[in-house]
Amino acid sequence: KKVEYILDTPVDQLKMSDIERDMSWYFDHHQKMVLASINPQIILMSEKNRCVKSFIEHATHRFADGIGVVKMSKWTKGSIKERVAGIDVMASVLEFCAANKKSIFLYGAKPAVVAQAARNIQIDYPGVVVAGWLDGYQKKSSGEVIDMINKAHSDVLFVALGSPKQEEWLQRYMPQLNATVFQTVGGSFDVYSG
Ligand code: UDP
Repeated sequence: KKVEYILDTPVDQLKMSDIERDMSWYFDHHQKMVLASINPQIILMSEKNRCVKSFIEHATHRFADGIGVVKMSKWTKGSIKERVAGIDVMASVLEFCAANKKSIFLYGAKPAVVAQAARNIQIDYPGVVVAGWLDGYQKKSSGEVIDMINKAHSDVLFVALGSPKQEEWLQRYMPQLNATVFQTVGGSFDVYSG
């Protein structure tokens, strides 16, 4: 896997097919797969925010989400040409889950949004087990949120708290979370709820 640095942020040269191919390996080997969507805003944040930077450094797949990163790569004489949209990665994870009867947990967005996204995913991807969901505005402690997620025993955790909250949250709590695939998905639950 080729990695290049844009400013100080590592970004992987990845195609969607690389992510799809790797997914079964992580399940077979019980290793955590961390899918981090990288856009120019996150690259700039990571210059100042150690937590965001550390999250990106430890993520297994840092994909260029949008033309902005492709352009930044070109300006810094890099060679990332492929844009991989976060919403497409999420769709691909959901297809894998549907085919392999894997379960998911949705964390983030407004209560009505995440509940509707969960229902729509259940309809659009038969075979996916929706193990649970939780909105991103409740007043539970981090410990309670982690407990709730772990009790659901999901294979995949999607986190939609916006940036940098979602990156900071995963960086802090991933060691305590039991799942195989983790993805920061920004506004994707809003898309799925529509
Ligand atoms: N969000 C959340 N809790 C917060 C802030 C944001 O759950 O404290 C959710 C918001 O409802 C939306 C998602 O995070 O579903 C992404 O937010 P936004 O589009 O503002 O972030 P971006 O994707 O631009 O980073």
